[in-house]
Amino acid sequence: MRQVHLPLTLAELWPLLDAGPRPLLFAGGTDLFVKMRADKADSDSLIGLERIAELNNIEETDDEIRIGACVTHEEIMSHSLVAKHLPIIAKALSTLGSPPIRAMGTIGGNICTASPAGDTLPPLYVLQAEVEISDRKNSRTLPIGDFITGPGETCLRPGEIVTAVRLKKPREYNLHHFEKVGQRKSMACAIASMAALLAVSPSGMIERARLAWGSVAPTVLRDKGIEEFLVGKHLSKETLSAAAERVALVVAPIDDIRASAYYRRTVSCNLLTRLAVYADVNRIVSFQ
Ligand SMILES: Cc1cc2nc3c(=O)[nH]c(=O)nc-3n(C[C@H](O)[C@H](O)[C@H](O)COP(=O)(O)OP(=O)(O)OC[C@H]3O[C@@H](n4cnc5c(N)ncnc54)[C@H](O)[C@@H]3O)c2cc1C
Repeated sequence: MRQVHLPLTLAELWPLLDAGPRPLLFAGGTDLFVKMRADKADSDSLIGLERIAELNNIEETDDEIRIGACVTHEEIMSHSLVAKHLPIIAKALSTLGSPPIRAMGTIGGNICTASPAGDTLPPLYVLQAEVEISDRKNSRTLPIGDFITGPGETCLRPGEIVTAVRLKKPREYNLHHFEKVGQRKSMACAIASMAALLAVSPSGMIERARLAWGSVAPTVLRDKGIEEFLVGKHLSKETLSAAAERVALVVAPIDDIRASAYYRRTVSCNLLTRLAVYADVNRIVSFQ
């Protein structure tokens, strides 16, 4: 007989993690229950984190937003602090699954699933998110890129959970962009996606750049070389095309049922060149 525990506080959770055979954790269950149905995961003990009060808040300090691990995608998307400071997250979440999946799925679940196609991940990489991890006694914080160690792999240890993700407000960036290409507009995993944060001067000079691609490498890909190439250049179609040539060299996509590696590579380059359209439409630069 399988037991399901639904603790309401962290204090109630910790003893459950220590009791008996290794339990399986879930939040919204939109990844875990699919795996269980496919016989890819099972345990006699399931622990739901979704009702734990300490994991369900979005908080603000002067320079940071802290999102609890069990806040759902829908709650994040509709939160005023996210709309104001983290529009790139809201944009990415608007492409994730469908309304029912967004109502159940959580940011902690998306991070811990660690899929290279996870829609929150490219934005979290460019925002240089810090993942907050706790066990019964200790807490530690890791940059998202260190937390995720491979496809479906993280450095969570037994007895640890993700409690929150911390994001510095990206005040100095005026271009916040996310675009995803899938087989259709909703209920589709990314074939390729790209998140971009750029600081562009009034004269159109790129002063800072952070870019990350999803679904084109074993983990989300951020490449310092491409970012450095863009800095100091005018945001133009020519600049983006030249940078896109570098993208083609650094992505490492695979062929799978959704798309060929060739198509993924082409799309990841095009996502970067399409930044010009976004910058123009949003009056960050004009290409007239
Ligand atoms: C029909 C469908 C469509 C989908 N479409 C998309 C999509 O377009 N884009 C996308 O990115 N994803 C998609 N997903 C995947 C899924 O919805 C997301 O990854 C979601 O964010 C998972 O969150 P969850 O809370 O449901 O995770 P769960 O299934 O509850 O957990 C997932 C994993 O994370 C672990 N976990 C969860 N929370 C914690 C925590 N706080 N600490 C430690 N471990 C934790 C669990 O143990 C489990 O291993 C889809 C899923 C379905 C079923």
